[in-house]
Amino acid sequence: MPDFRPSRRHEDLGSAFYDRVAAADFPQTILRHRDNRWAEHVGLGGLSDAQWLTHFGHFEPLPGSLPHPLALRYHGHQFRSYNPDLGDGRGFLFAQCTDPEDGRLLDFGTKGSGKTPYSRGGDGRLTLKGGVREVLATEMLEALGVYTSKSFALIETGEQLYRGDEPSPARSSVLTRLSHSHVRIGTFQRLAYLEDHENLGRLLDFCIANYYPQLAGAEDKAAAFLEAVAGNVARLGAQWIAAGFVHGVLNTDNINITGESFDYGPWRFLPQYDPGFTAAYFDETGLYAFGRQPDTLAWNLTRLAECLVPLSSIENLEPALNTVWPVFREQLPRQMLRRLGLRPRDIEEDSAFITALFGFLSASKARYEQFFFDWRGGALSTERAARSPAADHYADDAFRPLAGLMKAYEPADAINLDHPYFARQVPRTMLIDEVEAVWAPIAERDDWTLFESALSEIAQMRDAYRIRP
Ligand code: AMP
Ligand code: MG
Repeated sequence: MPDFRPSRRHEDLGSAFYDRVAAADFPQTILRHRDNRWAEHVGLGGLSDAQWLTHFGHFEPLPGSLPHPLALRYHGHQFRSYNPDLGDGRGFLFAQCTDPEDGRLLDFGTKGSGKTPYSRGGDGRLTLKGGVREVLATEMLEALGVYTSKSFALIETGEQLYRGDEPSPARSSVLTRLSHSHVRIGTFQRLAYLEDHENLGRLLDFCIANYYPQLAGAEDKAAAFLEAVAGNVARLGAQWIAAGFVHGVLNTDNINITGESFDYGPWRFLPQYDPGFTAAYFDETGLYAFGRQPDTLAWNLTRLAECLVPLSSIENLEPALNTVWPVFREQLPRQMLRRLGLRPRDIEEDSAFITALFGFLSASKARYEQFFFDWRGGALSTERAARSPAADHYADDAFRPLAGLMKAYEPADAINLDHPYFARQVPRTMLIDEVEAVWAPIAERDDWTLFESALSEIAQMRDAYRIRP
């Protein structure tokens, strides 16, 4: 195991970027989830359960890291309206460390740790169900190959919360997530809005130094940064589509400048392909529907580009911004083929293949995840697919064109078809009724067995897809 390499680098930005805050004093701390793999990865695998509660329930600083939690300042567009009243209202940056793998900075950020100057009318808390849902989302997404924050710790905190969208009083929790950066598009927006160009430049330098060090020598750092962010965000959009995932709240304050997916509220996975599928009940117009996510990400990146104008020029920023669609068009087939364990061919052929694939999924209404599961390895899985509950769809004439195109594709290295996961009839999914089924016994009788068994099935899936920390 590597050594834990603590950091407090966020302080370098200066006090104009955050407020020192304290965690709530919770009446109880009960450990509900610890991510041991990522703990090992960052060198914290040796912490006992008691130490885990001390740091991620009572927020005693990790030695060498930040001496006080920092509530981060940011603004953002929420459902396309600008809101200058945001910021960490129920969370803070608790600690930082260096990722032993690539030297980038990693943040431990909380959700539900108490009130801050940005709480507005809110209680600063997270419901236990909200915490459980975030753990399930991140575990699934990681296993499906989506670049996501990790749910490092979930601790039940013994309070009663009142929410309009959950039976109340609801149980409370605090989540610590691990993510490369909590700098959001909204962090840049706030400084642009305040016309604080000095700090805007400081933030850009900080992001380059800690997350994009390869850009340090760029002639136009702002344009180079925009292009790099656009590339990562476009890749994330393609990964969500390939995973059948709807984030639900793609406000600019929920978009990380590393292109790492985070902040899981009303998320859902798709049962069947449906571009209009919407996750949040309050998203009445379907603004953040499944098929609109790439467009939304591009819209959000345009907001980032606007913020960078004082540090660059429109002539340089425009071409950097315009890389988002070519990257997305290249990434979408790549991510879809990756899920199928197939080797890409050329971009034209791959695009024709995924057009046929979406055509089939749309016409047949075959289950989304089942399709990827059944056709892992392409034609190699023909016999396995014939035994699938979806076999009738594959015997239909509508499947022939896709089957024909699929024959040209070679399996990727290490597709792992002999893994026990692929001996199942149906893949592990996390559709809304399955989430509710995991939650029900916890709510009724504090029975966590379905939660634990869901996590071990997801671990098996992650292993089958060979996803490593
Ligand atoms: P979100 O929709 O979770 O990204 O949150 C948007 C904004 O509302 C952020 O500034 C949050 O910190 C704040 N917020 C959300 N829920 C609460 C809460 N229960 N208490 C205080 N602030 C909250
Ligand atoms: Mg948020």
